[in-house]
Amino acid sequence: MSQGGDDLKQDLSLSDEQGMRLALAQAQLAAAAGEVPVGAVVVKNGQVIATGRNAPIASRDPTAHAEVVALREAARVLGNYRLEGCTLYVTLEPCAMCSGAMLHARVDRVVFGAADPRTGVAGSVLNLFGHPQLNHQTQVTGGVLAEECGQLLKDFFKPRRVNADPVREDALRTPDAAFAGLPDYPWQPHYVNDLPSIVGLRMHVLDEGTKDAPLTWLCLHGNPAWSYLYRKMIPVWLAAGHRVVAPDLIGFGKSDKPKKDSFHQFETHRQSLLDLIERLGLQRVVLVVQDWGGILGLTLPMAAPERYKGLLVMNTTLATGEQPLSAGFLAWRDWCQGQPLFDVGKLFKRGNPGMSPKEMAAYNAPFPDKGYRAALRAFPPMVPEFADSPGAAVSRQAQAFWREDWQGQTFMAIGQQDSVLGEPVMRQLQSQIRGCPEPMLLPDAGHFVQEQGRAIAEAAVRNFKP
Ligand SMILES: [Zn+2]
Repeated sequence: MSQGGDDLKQDLSLSDEQGMRLALAQAQLAAAAGEVPVGAVVVKNGQVIATGRNAPIASRDPTAHAEVVALREAARVLGNYRLEGCTLYVTLEPCAMCSGAMLHARVDRVVFGAADPRTGVAGSVLNLFGHPQLNHQTQVTGGVLAEECGQLLKDFFKPRRVNADPVREDALRTPDAAFAGLPDYPWQPHYVNDLPSIVGLRMHVLDEGTKDAPLTWLCLHGNPAWSYLYRKMIPVWLAAGHRVVAPDLIGFGKSDKPKKDSFHQFETHRQSLLDLIERLGLQRVVLVVQDWGGILGLTLPMAAPERYKGLLVMNTTLATGEQPLSAGFLAWRDWCQGQPLFDVGKLFKRGNPGMSPKEMAAYNAPFPDKGYRAALRAFPPMVPEFADSPGAAVSRQAQAFWREDWQGQTFMAIGQQDSVLGEPVMRQLQSQIRGCPEPMLLPDAGHFVQEQGRAIAEAAVRNFKP
């Protein structure tokens, strides 16, 4: 070949980087098609004669690697299964199959981008091209644009930013925006979505303070409240160096909300709380209960008494089904049935005239429309009414536990303006709790005693010695 011919060849040839860029473009097309992004081109005399991109999924062909696809096309274009004088550019170090095919085709050069420590046989796992028995003419160059080629693969395999926490089809999730900027509720949400009793539902848990704190105040709310109800008490306990765990029952607050009323069963809610306590491994617990927080919560400690050190009990009851439900409660139950779209915030303000519009809005926040309100409809009729009502038997067991077996300290606070679960009901409960001292009376507090909770929390801290 003349000197002039050599010059011409030089002019026609691609640099390795140029060749690799063409292969990268093929890899990007593979990624766009949902295939592992590997691309290849075959170049002869400075001309791209074939391209290939990884396509085993689309072509249902395990051999459809970028290199094999490109080699097949090149052979077809040249009308020859020998690809002498050709250079193959590929973005990833070739595997054994592709390397074998290239050796059979006798390509002059293989230029690859990123090394493949898992299946690469051009030097990584082994070097097929380095065996003189197998290879007589193919040269190998690796590491051309290796970073770009590798990044494309990394991006492809990076976990997709899909919603890792999908909401169950039969449930709703109140948008986060509904809870933005709530007064006196600065705490970050924590979510638990693997409780066996409520598979697929996400429960919100306020969890502040350290796990090794001397006491953990486990605060259980009732209907129609959520952990917001404890906002005046939480800071007192955190300031004392304690931990506070305040879940939102399923159907309330920031927890998922099943669409159907029939989801709500006494035993399901009880078990979800037991699961949560196990899941968080709570120890040195002071159980804090009011309303449904107590109807459910007072049945919990007998399942694992060693976890509990104390009880802070406010306007609630054990619904054992042995005595008729009070007139006050029946009136409330009727009222809920007659006013299915009642304004939750207004209800809270009724017993707490000083409540601000923003605080009222915080109580309405979990329920943007009636689709979210299944729990509000389901809870009042769920209070065990008869001896054989769901929850009544376990409540009777709990009654026996508190009367005979309870070893912890107790602190009782009573909002005296409560017509449903006020002083008469609480005095009876007091008589059923072993070692329950004279209660703290709050003459101005209504049913939602926690709205005057700072004083109660402070008294309770003094009462409970870790
Ligand atoms: Zn391959």
